Amino acid sequence: MKYVSTRGQAPVLSFEEAMLSGLARDGGLYVPETVPQMSQADIRALHGLPYEEVAFRVMRPFVGDTFDDATFGDLIAKSYAQFGHAARAPLKQLGSGHFLCELFHGPTLAFKDFAMQLIGQLFEEALTRSGSRVTIVGATSGDTGSAAIEAFRGLDAVDVFILYPHGRVSEVQRRQMTTPVEENVHAVAIDGHFDDAQARLKDMFAHDDFRDGVRLAAVNSINWARVLAQVVYYFSAAVSLGAPERKVSFTVPTGNFGDIFAGYIAKGMGLPIDRLVIATNHNDILHRAVSTGNYTTGRVEPSISPSMDIQVSSNFERALFDAYDRDGNAVAQLMDELKSGGGFHVSQGALEALRDNFDSGRASEANTSATIAATHARTGELVCPHTAVGIKVAEEHRDRAVPMVTLATAHPAKFPDAVEAATGIRPPLPERMSDLMEREERITRAPNDLAALEEIIQERIRT
Ligand SMILES: *Cc1c(COP(=O)(O)O)cnc(C)c1O
Repeated sequence: MKYVSTRGQAPVLSFEEAMLSGLARDGGLYVPETVPQMSQADIRALHGLPYEEVAFRVMRPFVGDTFDDATFGDLIAKSYAQFGHAARAPLKQLGSGHFLCELFHGPTLAFKDFAMQLIGQLFEEALTRSGSRVTIVGATSGDTGSAAIEAFRGLDAVDVFILYPHGRVSEVQRRQMTTPVEENVHAVAIDGHFDDAQARLKDMFAHDDFRDGVRLAAVNSINWARVLAQVVYYFSAAVSLGAPERKVSFTVPTGNFGDIFAGYIAKGMGLPIDRLVIATNHNDILHRAVSTGNYTTGRVEPSISPSMDIQVSSNFERALFDAYDRDGNAVAQLMDELKSGGGFHVSQGALEALRDNFDSGRASEANTSATIAATHARTGELVCPHTAVGIKVAEEHRDRAVPMVTLATAHPAKFPDAVEAATGIRPPLPERMSDLMEREERITRAPNDLAALEEIIQERIRT
């Protein structure tokens, strides 16, 4: 299994190389050269299997010879052992034909744990085997960073630096990043927005001396292995609802387009997914791109669903690559236009290709709060604001013949203020992390400046 860059100019890599390097040297993102297929019989055979076994069968063909079967199976088992629910990604019915897929039973209460726990295990195995080490730098709007710190803390072969926008993450998110005591993990609060943090991360990757000097690796949602881990729950959910005999649609609260792109891969592998619905908050660049063809960045407006507060959606480049018939030059040109002019126009043919797979919708702040309240009143469930964005948009895209699954991306207790404002009820943290608010914090403040950030990292890495 080989991986190619969406901009067509970087070397073709193995799974291991693509996983360890993250972003490609031409600035592009790695995607599989061809998407492995699962037959109807392969999908039918997933019925009733534990999540870990589904994960093994779905991901195995993408991994090539990087891990043998027994090792890969062990790493998957370790990744999900700490989850607080035996089904890992259980479904809960919200109404007729509408289901939530609960992706918040991992150690940091958001879906990012699915990918990050696995990546932690895969990195440790691959690096220990080759006797090498890496420096992971991540940019987060809150949930990626806490999931990464949780997955990598205490590992010998890895130092982790997480850049987050100062004052723009929830207290639970911040504490999950700043309270681990292990000396290989560092939470860095920068002045700016998530997009600034992500831009500085990309600058570090483009700075070859620094990149090679510290052996930089990325675990942001641009890392292919993360996308891959997220493909699994599309299969487990669809199979529970009758796939391959019955089609299923998904609505995905979307920011960086990683989670929904995983659904697109699942569909490409042969899973009978009818519609993939992009749900955005008022930072709606993806909704505008799919509905008008104009991908133009605006200003990031803070919202009550902060993990989706972005204007540059990195993984959308992967969807564009396919929509432009895998023409890396065309994608590179669009990304140049984005960098120099703040946007680009998707060609008619590419837009049609995108619309073949994706629908989209948005929720205003008022819609989101009203949906949290209405969902609680109708079902007794408290949902996080990201999930509420999904539920609102899903209801607008319901087709009675096809079950709709909305991905519940975080636990309500991770965003208690928004939930309390909408329902009057403050959702409690699960028992296993109830002392989070008393633990001591460790924060590094930094300017939104490449040289300053590189210096912090160089001073702190263990050699
Ligand atoms: C990261 C995140 C999202 C957005 O996921 P993408 O893969 O960036 O589209 C949505 N909800 C929550 C709770 C998240 O943490």
